[in-house]
Amino acid sequence: MKSLARFAPGPSIDLHAHSNMSDGTMSPSELVRHAATIGLKAIALTDHDTLDGLEPATLAVKEFELDLEVVPGVEISAEYDYGILHILGFFIRSDDPELQKSLNFLRIQRQSRIAKILSKLSAQNVFIREEEVRKVATGGVPGRPHLAGLMFRKGYVKTMQEAFDRYLRKGACAYVPKVKLPASKALQLIISAGGIPVVAHPYSLNQEDPDRFEEALLSLIDKGLQGIEAYYPKHTKDQTRMYVRLASKFDLVVTGGTDFHGANKPGVKLGEFPDRPPLPYSLLEEMKKRLDNTR
Ligand code: AMP
Ligand code: ZN
Ligand code: FE
Ligand code: FE
Repeated sequence: MKSLARFAPGPSIDLHAHSNMSDGTMSPSELVRHAATIGLKAIALTDHDTLDGLEPATLAVKEFELDLEVVPGVEISAEYDYGILHILGFFIRSDDPELQKSLNFLRIQRQSRIAKILSKLSAQNVFIREEEVRKVATGGVPGRPHLAGLMFRKGYVKTMQEAFDRYLRKGACAYVPKVKLPASKALQLIISAGGIPVVAHPYSLNQEDPDRFEEALLSLIDKGLQGIEAYYPKHTKDQTRMYVRLASKFDLVVTGGTDFHGANKPGVKLGEFPDRPPLPYSLLEEMKKRLDNTR
């Protein structure tokens, strides 16, 4: 079997990172300074359901005179029957009213979901108040990692993972599903906001059979998908190879990122992949070419 092309050393990038505007732990300013300190040339800030980190990130780049490009991004959860479907939007216009309106809707839905989870938790004698969640989810995008952190700090669990395993994971006693957008809606929102929609961490679609995966991908392409996040820390070499092959077959852009969440995902380091070299800047150049051709 053909081996994965090794990227030449040079400037590297990370096109999937979260700040504390959603469920990461670094502020947008801390995140861009961290990225510059470790020598990255570009990062995409892809917070869940919010664009509020983009301006502070860009301002921090100027204020600290960082040699770093910040790609405006977002990550939106979409309905999918077989696994988890997250759509990344790159180069979206952050002032797009329709996108803002939908993200606002999703944030409101998140808040009522959290209230439901808290009430299920109290039935298990785990007591967390909405106000405590508001204090840690300062960007207004509360999620399960915030709850897991609170449960850990209040001594209900020994690790955040235990909070997921005992209470928060799908099927556990305090699980409440998140309200998601239909995939076509998420894809079209990103396109109308001038962005490139990309399927995030495609392994999470749970389509292990290559033919089934290709079918799932084609159905998303039909709805407007333009790219695939082939490079992701959890992908095996075989998966990465398949995603790159399908990208070329269907003329999709190839992206990659670590899904950095700071201390909320302790094993994940910005810009680093366990079994492959850092991602080259050329991936971003390809995306920009695509943007020029579609705009
Ligand atoms: P939410 O947006 O509230 O559904 O939270 C999703 C986040 O929770 C994901 O980005 C993961 O980082 C984390 N998460 C989801 N399921 C698990 C799990 N079983 N174990 C640990 N973390 C998880
Ligand atoms: Zn997240
Ligand atoms: Fe995701
Ligand atoms: Fe993510």
